[in-house]
Amino acid sequence: MTMFDLRGKVAVVTGGNGGIGLGMARGLASAGASLVLSGRNTAKGEQAARELGGGTVFVRSDVRRKADCQALVAETVRRFGRLDILINNAGTSIRGKPQDLTEDEWHLILDTNLTGTFLLSQAAYPEMVKAGGGKIINIGSMMSLFGAPFAVPYAGSKGGVVQLTKALATAWAPDNIQVNAVLPGWIDTELSRGARRDVPGLEQAVLPRLPAGRWGVPDDLAGIAVFLAAPASDYVTGTAIPVDGGYSVRG
Ligand code: NDP
Repeated sequence: MTMFDLRGKVAVVTGGNGGIGLGMARGLASAGASLVLSGRNTAKGEQAARELGGGTVFVRSDVRRKADCQALVAETVRRFGRLDILINNAGTSIRGKPQDLTEDEWHLILDTNLTGTFLLSQAAYPEMVKAGGGKIINIGSMMSLFGAPFAVPYAGSKGGVVQLTKALATAWAPDNIQVNAVLPGWIDTELSRGARRDVPGLEQAVLPRLPAGRWGVPDDLAGIAVFLAAPASDYVTGTAIPVDGGYSVRG
């Protein structure tokens, strides 16, 4: 269906070498997009690129570094000639009491989750303008909506991602660039396994209030990635869409 057809489109997915990023990349690949996966772990990245096939490449890149963001965009254009879709999915957390966190830990989380999203969007912008428009999909969290005592900087960064999304959407709408956020619920990945390990009782607290009755899996994010990357969402911008099995609407 043309509305969801991504053939001829080129997408960059940060943190596309595993977890939610790879789930979203699978969705885009199934709709026909060419893919560039990025992250810092090359072995994991090359394995993910092989899994997706169809000419998918991995480019090593740290979103905290402006030069890496610019090089990632340049390499994408060198290989595929254009850039249409950017998924800012790279993210990290350090769990602990806010009073115990160091300034370096704060910066690691904010630089990865919030500043990285901005830097790569900024690097992608000229190429999207050249392509006549584009789609930017930023990954927030339930912590964009709620607080949690063990994830204070993470919640700060993910709240910021939603506001950044709204502001960029207003700035770049005249360029036909739609900017939206996706707020995943509790998805089974390396990151959330770490949370379950570090936070006693988390698993038992989450499941009973999850209307869907199960944790999510990365492929649960594939459909929203296709929708927000495709012509079907051309009049959708500045939104923050939960994909959470109903977690955020349960009182
Ligand atoms: P993973 O740990 O599996 O994925 C995180 C990804 O981010 C990895 O691929 C990692 O690759 C990449 N990454 C981390 N730091 C950097 C960096 N500095 N530069 C480039 N890439 C980086 O966890 P998830 O799949 O769960 O997380 C993906 C996104 O989803 C994150 O933004 C997370 O906050 C968000 N999210 C996850 C939820 C969940 O329940 N799992 C819920 C809500 C939001 P590498 O190590 O190779 O750099």
